[in-house]
Amino acid sequence: MAYDVIVIGSGPGGYVAAIRASQLGFKTAVVERESLGGICLNWGCIPTKALLKSAQVFEYIQHSKDYGISVSKAEADFEAIIKRSRGSADKMSKGVQFLMKKNKIDVLMGTAKLKGKNQVEITDKDGKTSVQDAKHIIMATGARSRELPNLKIDGKKVIGYRDAMVLPKQPKSMIVVGSGAIGVEFAYFYHSLGTKVTIVEFMPRIVPVEDEDISKELEKIYKKKGLEIMTNSSVESVDTSGSGVKARVKTEKGEVTLEADVVLSAVGITANIENLGLEALGIKTDKGKVLVDKYYQTNVPGIYAIGDMVPGQALAHVASKEGIVCVEAIAYNEKKYAHKPEPIDYMNIPGCTYCAPEIASVGYTEKAAKEAGYEVKVGKFPFSASGKAIGAGAPEGFVKVIFDAKYGEWLGTHMIGANVTEVIVQTVTARKLETTYQEVLDSIHPHPTMSEAVKDAIEAAYGEAIHL
Ligand SMILES: Cc1cc2nc3c(=O)[nH]c(=O)nc-3n(C[C@H](O)[C@H](O)[C@H](O)COP(=O)(O)OP(=O)(O)OC[C@H]3O[C@@H](n4cnc5c(N)ncnc54)[C@H](O)[C@@H]3O)c2cc1C
Repeated sequence: MAYDVIVIGSGPGGYVAAIRASQLGFKTAVVERESLGGICLNWGCIPTKALLKSAQVFEYIQHSKDYGISVSKAEADFEAIIKRSRGSADKMSKGVQFLMKKNKIDVLMGTAKLKGKNQVEITDKDGKTSVQDAKHIIMATGARSRELPNLKIDGKKVIGYRDAMVLPKQPKSMIVVGSGAIGVEFAYFYHSLGTKVTIVEFMPRIVPVEDEDISKELEKIYKKKGLEIMTNSSVESVDTSGSGVKARVKTEKGEVTLEADVVLSAVGITANIENLGLEALGIKTDKGKVLVDKYYQTNVPGIYAIGDMVPGQALAHVASKEGIVCVEAIAYNEKKYAHKPEPIDYMNIPGCTYCAPEIASVGYTEKAAKEAGYEVKVGKFPFSASGKAIGAGAPEGFVKVIFDAKYGEWLGTHMIGANVTEVIVQTVTARKLETTYQEVLDSIHPHPTMSEAVKDAIEAAYGEAIHL
């Protein structure tokens, strides 16, 4: 066999799996049809965070007076903001190129398809095909924007996340359909630059996967900023025949027609599982995702799948860890690695949303904990009582912790506030180590920091609050 491992797709699942495979002594290749780094580095995590930083800087400048600084006139240069974001993506993609070279991984550019149990057919951009064989094949082909039948993406007036990152000019108005992480991040970005934004959400609350208190807080903050929010509402049809878009929206109170320059469809993702040759090999799928065991092997031995194309949270850090666990399990079975990897605990995965203020959470929401039968102890600490947040001019939001009242298990943490995405890992580690609340309180938290609000929230849960 030419390779021990061939990875299809070079996103955070694929390129990380390839590096770990190479580290473990496997001769490895990665096949990529577009850009190294996948969605995350080119069209997801990184370019959006660059856009959001520009929006945040612009907001800061507009509020500079609050910090005792006067700035005569700040203008947002949309084209330059987009260019900066694309530059960040390029830099990261080049970084992956460097890592492939450093780890002696062959990069095969083209579209891959499973040809047989140990064979991958690769078609390059000129239509030339070649076949490579490998003992193990890891699929990591990711996902794309999900399309609703009544909201077809045309890339101009009805756009997906990729289009939203490279619009040629800033729209005056935008309807954002869907208020998950992607929807609320773009809503904040465009609103901050002056676009009139309306969010249309089918569920009764925005960021519906989060704890209810988080949804309420974000809705309050977004409305105060001036974003329009319509929950319990759905876009029934769009008319793109005029200069802008007319969207017919069904609400609890009846139908309304909204007009805007563009509609952003942010209703989720669809896994890239088509044209991969899955059917011919009898690889099982369910609800559009490839089925795998806890070490990411499909029902066909030697063929694996990781990342957005398998069930589980569609997040970059999940894809990467799945890649590592998958490869380490292969190496363990082949006696190249002594440590049997621990399967991923999908209840202990942090989720971060980079709207402003940021949202970060892990574990059970209060509702889910109660539904699972726990008697809960809940503590909340508002950032309005945090010295760091006050000094930073960011008093919005709070930390909410949930403990099991009986045995003290830390069930979940939910935060909304400035930079909270940097704080959530404390709960993840503590949960992993099955730490008690007392041990966390006995670990000294630095002052003043946003992270000490977690300690304050735990104190509140156990009736020991000092700062409330
Ligand atoms: C706008 C946006 C913002 C996001 N922000 C965050 C965030 O802040 N944090 C976070 O954790 N996650 C974020 N995500 C999600 C994150 O990007 C994905 O979870 C992650 O990229 C999944 O990694 P992956 O390796 O499974 O697939 P992908 O990153 O999608 O990579 C798959 C790769 O496979 C290639 N490919 C597909 N089919 C073939 C084929 N047949 N042959 C060869 N190559 C193929 C594709 O070209 C692509 O490069 C965001 C997503 C979006 C859309």
